[in-house]
Amino acid sequence: MDVLVARVAVSKAVYAIDKPYDYLIPPALEGVIVAGMRVLVSFGAGNRGSDAIVLSVAKVPPSPKLKSIIAPLDDAPVLDADGIQLALWMRERYFCTLCDAVKAMLPTGLYFALRDNVVVVEGLDREDALSLVQGDTGATQLVEMLFNWDRRGDMEQIRAGFGVKDPNPAIKTLIEKNIALLETTSQRSIGDKSEKQAVLAIPTEEAMAKVTPKRKSAPLRYAVTELLCAIGAGSTKELCYFTGASTQTIKSLEKSGILTLEKHEVLRSPHLDDIAPAPPLVLNPEQEKAFHGLDALCSKGVADAALLYGITGSGKTSVYIRLIQSVLERGQTAMVLVPEIVLTPQLLRIFTSYFGSSIAILHSSLRVGERYDEWKRIKRGEAQVVIGTRSAVFAPLTNIGLIVLDEEQEYSYKSENNPRYHAREVAKYRCVQNKGVLLLGSATPSVETMHYAKSGRYQLFRLENRFNLQALPQVHIADMKAELRMGNGTSISSPLRREMEENLKKGEQTILFLNRRGANRMVSCGECGEVPECDRCSVKLTYHSANGRLMCHYCGHSQPLPRACPSCGGGLNFIGVGTQRVQEELEEIFPDVEILRMDTDTITAANSHEKVLDKFRKNKVPILIGTQMVAKGLDFENVTLVGVLDADLALYIDDFRAGERTFSLITQVVGRAGRGDKLGRAVIQTYTPENEVIQFAARQDYDHFFEQEIPMRSLRKCPPFSDVLVIQASGPNENGVFQAMMMLQRALDAQLKSAGREYQLLGPAPCAVAKINGRYRYRMTLTGKQGRALRLLVSQLVQCAQQDKNNRGISIFVDADPLNGT
Ligand code: ADP
Ligand code: ZN
Repeated sequence: MDVLVARVAVSKAVYAIDKPYDYLIPPALEGVIVAGMRVLVSFGAGNRGSDAIVLSVAKVPPSPKLKSIIAPLDDAPVLDADGIQLALWMRERYFCTLCDAVKAMLPTGLYFALRDNVVVVEGLDREDALSLVQGDTGATQLVEMLFNWDRRGDMEQIRAGFGVKDPNPAIKTLIEKNIALLETTSQRSIGDKSEKQAVLAIPTEEAMAKVTPKRKSAPLRYAVTELLCAIGAGSTKELCYFTGASTQTIKSLEKSGILTLEKHEVLRSPHLDDIAPAPPLVLNPEQEKAFHGLDALCSKGVADAALLYGITGSGKTSVYIRLIQSVLERGQTAMVLVPEIVLTPQLLRIFTSYFGSSIAILHSSLRVGERYDEWKRIKRGEAQVVIGTRSAVFAPLTNIGLIVLDEEQEYSYKSENNPRYHAREVAKYRCVQNKGVLLLGSATPSVETMHYAKSGRYQLFRLENRFNLQALPQVHIADMKAELRMGNGTSISSPLRREMEENLKKGEQTILFLNRRGANRMVSCGECGEVPECDRCSVKLTYHSANGRLMCHYCGHSQPLPRACPSCGGGLNFIGVGTQRVQEELEEIFPDVEILRMDTDTITAANSHEKVLDKFRKNKVPILIGTQMVAKGLDFENVTLVGVLDADLALYIDDFRAGERTFSLITQVVGRAGRGDKLGRAVIQTYTPENEVIQFAARQDYDHFFEQEIPMRSLRKCPPFSDVLVIQASGPNENGVFQAMMMLQRALDAQLKSAGREYQLLGPAPCAVAKINGRYRYRMTLTGKQGRALRLLVSQLVQCAQQDKNNRGISIFVDADPLNGT
């Protein structure tokens, strides 16, 4: 007779051994355990407890090897059939484990809270509890422990108390006998609205590789790192709360370069009662036309994708809103994804004014508990419109009619940590599942997206005019080489200075953009030319004036600024220009003019992003200087001049996307000028005024930029004409890492050849940053058309390499189409 098993993905299974495992469903749990539910199982050597998620339930022939499920962890499935399907797809597409995919999809609160605390039910005293478990030594031990610990214990404590013994049966007994509960702690509010945020500083694989060998002796370091790997960033209070670690542990992890601590501003959800419902939205004819075409597409009930290509200020948001209204009328749901930097209170207010309480907001600076609450509202069907950043793409909406990806070319849609997914691809997959429409919006679409739109794979809709019918800014290119020849060594060219003077006279405002944060400058020795480097990473240190220290941006290491060159004793000079330096220069050029600066150094809890911008708007501060933060989404009527101080910075890096990125950045910055009824002007400063990308960007001429770019991509066999896959390894011993990669390279090369594939395999070569945190890094790049077969092949070879005993201490991972080349 066949037996009933649950096919599960086990959380403790690492990539090398990840596959669905079968567990017997005990008769008492038949019909209770269903697909999409999390369960407790024992796994691996030592049969330690692990949570797992049920993928399917099946009947199989009995086998003595089958272990039983210990307990269910949920009352109802947390993933539906589509969700399980998506996790399986992600595993293949992004070379992660099933549970990595599931963890990315579920809110962390759900994940950690449930297994964190065992709490004695109220009103029960020690004697009663003990009598209920008489004869059961494990359960008795646990009862004693819990009462000794003030009636509650977290899993770490309990595991430590049980030593080699598995505490899970005892926990299960206590729960079954109604002695204790697993507490959902995430509903508690933790911490303040603004607090130190811990951010994972290195890839998850490298972080785990650093803490795993010392897991036994330093369990809390391990626990915090594991949690941080799952959520990417979290407030220190949350991390301590969920793991039982102290701030000391967090500090030690910062020292080891696993995380960095940042001042963090929490984006508050707007209060509904403050916001009046918006009047009906009236579109202009051009918007109306795009809306009609897109709405027709959405009402077909067939999966499709479209690009809304509209210049800055054309009112793409208005089109999204009308489409969502229409989707909701048909009883479907909708999702709007925006890059982190664009998700401003201003935008939330607009959406709230149209959709009120049917909106749910999901973004990374919500606290764990808040994210969990929003997730529950969506799952219960109380919210039909989700607005959020990258990970909101996993929101548990059903019957999705539309997913909007605004500014679709932004890099922040790609996760830099495991699982290394791209929100655009996940959104597309979900649209196929739901027979919905994926709408990509941009003024400067990625070259891939535009290529698909022009070749008919995506539908193309255009908005060619600004809503206020104002012309695009007049752009002037300033040649910085000529400035130098004329003896102007400052970072403000004479044309920019002239324009700024004019603006000051007219009482209009100016935004200056510098693609470099803070006062960051490098120091170099005037005698021997040496630039201090980080001991642990192969990067130069940068000077931060905020703390007067030299800092490493990769591992967080910092040291005081030395008085003289450590090598030869010569005097140190500053090189490079940062926002603070520019501010100082401006103060000399324009004495008595107020200047606001906005970058990660000036933004603090008390002086939030919002406050700086409010001040800029209300007080009409003449000049705002800032980094990326000022580039996007800002909409100020009185800003008529924008200066791009260093257009070349992103252009001359060794990456086929450098041109695209520069074009997009310049266009966005320039688009900040002339949003009101006055014509805008912009000055782009460059050392290479003849460069075509700069020229196209100055004319805001995306079409010609695209036409020039696409044959180059074709010639160089870059995306969209091929797929790129990067395999990366890191370890403490350079030769070991290199050997591991060489083995992989030979195996891959041989297999690809024998399969008769067209491909190009480059490397292994050291990464752009060859060493981070004492770990050497190598990568190799595989270019060619990717399909399922190729991915399976790579996956098998990588799993083999990970299991190879010679590769101990080396972490290996695969990144499908990385956007960031460090
Ligand atoms: P984009 O995102 O395409 O750059 P926005 O959506 O920010 O453009 O719109 C630019 C400006 O025009 C905004 O101030 C917006 O409020 C206004 N706007 C756009 N469409 C409409 C409309 N149909 N009715 C009223 N105002 C609109
Ligand atoms: Zn470093």
